Amino acid sequence: MTDSAPSPAPTRDASVWCPAWQDGFADLGPAFVRDVLPQPLADPYWVGTSAQAGALIGLPEGWQRSPEMLAAFTGNTLLPGSRPVATIYSGHQFGVWAGQLGDGRALLLGQTCGQELQLKGSGRTPFSRMGDGRAVLRSSIREFLCSEAMHALGIPTTRALCVTGSPALVAREELETAAVVTRLAESFIRFGHFEHFAARGHTDELRALADHVIERHYPACRANAGPQRAAYAALLEAVTERTARLLAQWQAVGFCHGVMNTDNMSILGLTLDYGPFQFLDAYDPGHICNHSDAQGRYAFDRQPTVAWWNLHRLAQALMPLIDDVQAAQSALAGYEATLNHAYLALMRAKLGLGAAVQGDDAGLLQQLLALLAADRVDYPIFWRRLSQAVATGDFGAVRDLFLDGAGIDAWLLTYQELLAQQERGFAADLMLRSNPRFVLRNHLAEQAIRAAKLGDFSEVQTLQTLLARPFDEHPGHDAHAGFPPDWAAHLSISCSS
Ligand code: AMP
Ligand code: MG
Repeated sequence: MTDSAPSPAPTRDASVWCPAWQDGFADLGPAFVRDVLPQPLADPYWVGTSAQAGALIGLPEGWQRSPEMLAAFTGNTLLPGSRPVATIYSGHQFGVWAGQLGDGRALLLGQTCGQELQLKGSGRTPFSRMGDGRAVLRSSIREFLCSEAMHALGIPTTRALCVTGSPALVAREELETAAVVTRLAESFIRFGHFEHFAARGHTDELRALADHVIERHYPACRANAGPQRAAYAALLEAVTERTARLLAQWQAVGFCHGVMNTDNMSILGLTLDYGPFQFLDAYDPGHICNHSDAQGRYAFDRQPTVAWWNLHRLAQALMPLIDDVQAAQSALAGYEATLNHAYLALMRAKLGLGAAVQGDDAGLLQQLLALLAADRVDYPIFWRRLSQAVATGDFGAVRDLFLDGAGIDAWLLTYQELLAQQERGFAADLMLRSNPRFVLRNHLAEQAIRAAKLGDFSEVQTLQTLLARPFDEHPGHDAHAGFPPDWAAHLSISCSS
């Protein structure tokens, strides 16, 4: 960060929206949070806003044009009654215990309408370590667009209310400009929050955290459990189930998170912390989207196993509360079956196979994935073309995607036999609702970022509109639904953000 001159504290401005704050994470007490003021950024401007996310917290009409809101969501003023805090967590990064991390550049402003409101990129905190507490425009646009896109795809995720930018410079591989993303989630609690207190042997805090999560987010765990410690095993089981379902959705849509460290794993099973993520272009099961991940720990096809590993770290952290190895093991035991079941259900929908269709669906799917991988077929385009082909009965455009014509022909024969068990219109309809025409491919985000760096935010807005209804046709936007250009193959997305 080159704007290192001491910045004035943010001012309070009573003329802005007055949220009705609720008790929340900060009320857990000083062991969990540090009070921190955001550090103002010069000359802020709007980059993108989500009206839908604004409605979640009851923001007044026209907030996107309010200079007061711009100041508040850049961290230059405090919302009335807000008490910003940075939260403490630890975690395993790339499989190794990293010790204390914490919100190094995020601040929790408070909770309203059941949503925690968080600024990301609002300056240094006691947990910034060597970092500058800032986020750059590039990564902030990616997080903003992808959060809202995932939501529209029906995938659990933290939400993004807005991005604001500033001409203030931030040093990464090169000098870039600063931005702040305002995020919303029912909770930003991570596996790493639990690991933190467990590693220190602070069992009282660990219990308070678990009770907080159960009471607010998993009340059934207490209601259905007998002895106290059974509630904690039930919590582990519920988180295991949500995580398995989340991973099934990532794998089905072709989403690669890129940095599945335990501090990026949400206790609510949300997609959290958008960094070097990528939607697959060509189908390559071993695809590594994070340029910094030399070993491929977080390769696309390893994600389900990594989530399983991460759940074991959570289980370990909860052991002082569960206090029964057998109970913890059985809480984790459902992971694989839930994941496989959810994944197959999603893939059946992508194939247009309704409940009535009987046959070797899993075998058919495995054959298809092998064909897609062998020819590195574009993943989203394949599915959308297949949907269209089922609608029209003409499979030519699907065949054109493959070098191995005989292979796909044989597969299509078997597939059509299964499809024939139901009405064609039903299948096509299901497929067009299950196979998005638009996903946030790297090159699309990159084009929006390049324009935004020159002060043109129209492409951010266009993408936002397309991705908010990703299953619609949006005539006139063929390019946004097309193959990535050659230059996209050389895009390198690192952890730097
Ligand atoms: P991430 O890789 O973004 O999930 O971040 C891992 C840890 O590094 C978290 O504790 C972050 O708060 C912290 N961090 C990442 N970037 C910065 C930054 N620019 N300044 C301070 N802390 C950061
Ligand atoms: Mg993180």
